[in-house]
Amino acid sequence: MSMEKTCIFCNSSEFKVVFREIKADIVRCKKCGHIFSTWNQPQDYDAYFGNTVEDINQETIFWFSDAHRLMYNQFCQRFIKKSSGRLLDFGCGLGYFLKEMSNFPQWDSWGCEISPVAVNFAKKRLGLNKIVCSKIQNLGFAKESFDIITLWDVIEYIPDPWPILYCLYNLLKPKGMLFLHTPNIHIQLPIARLTKMLFGLRKDFHYLEATDHIHHYSADTITKLLKQVEFERIVFHHFVPIQGVAGSKSKTLIFLKNLWYYSSVLLFYSSLKKINLDNLFVAAYKSA
Ligand SMILES: [Zn+2]
Repeated sequence: MSMEKTCIFCNSSEFKVVFREIKADIVRCKKCGHIFSTWNQPQDYDAYFGNTVEDINQETIFWFSDAHRLMYNQFCQRFIKKSSGRLLDFGCGLGYFLKEMSNFPQWDSWGCEISPVAVNFAKKRLGLNKIVCSKIQNLGFAKESFDIITLWDVIEYIPDPWPILYCLYNLLKPKGMLFLHTPNIHIQLPIARLTKMLFGLRKDFHYLEATDHIHHYSADTITKLLKQVEFERIVFHHFVPIQGVAGSKSKTLIFLKNLWYYSSVLLFYSSLKKINLDNLFVAAYKSA
């Protein structure tokens, strides 16, 4: 199969369809193996959270608040609690990670988010005020002014990640850490195929979120991406997954997800860090 889109890594336009969703195909680059959606998303897509605050329903709030809490908590225990500095949550969405950061007043924590609806929610409902609603080009922060920049489920939405990653690299202080969380395609694809086999193609199922998740990274491709942005050292971490499954609160599914998490961590260490089938929690460090 060939089409006008080209692979962001190797520029090839030869692909193989690996998964068909209702609105778009997911393809694998024949040359380098990168997997991505054929959906055409504008680089500055800002309507993820809908058009008004009323579009943000209880399920969305559960997903970003309760379901993420343990994960945010573990992150803060590891990276935030015993230190201080300045943090930027890039693509902060409804603001729940920043809300968690407000427990650590020794950190000057900022957010930026492209969706005015989400920013409105974060300011009015969560009482957060250090959030800039802007594209990255107009953020107005000084170069080398952050110790940590986080991207929680953001990178997979960005059609052209390089310009944004370069901007964020410049905003980091020397030795600063860029932290990304993104799904791992090596597990997402088999799960999507299994779900489709069991239940068929259904409009209300998430599968690979073809119209939202544009790039599907693996440990290898996310490492390649970050090394191209000159990050010096890449470290993979493990945190408990989001305590929800694609919008479902099913206790059985959450149990299976956690079981998968512990198994994948075991596999990661017993394979001497060669096999990573966990979600991708990646810390990329800028040189001194
Ligand atoms: Zn390629």
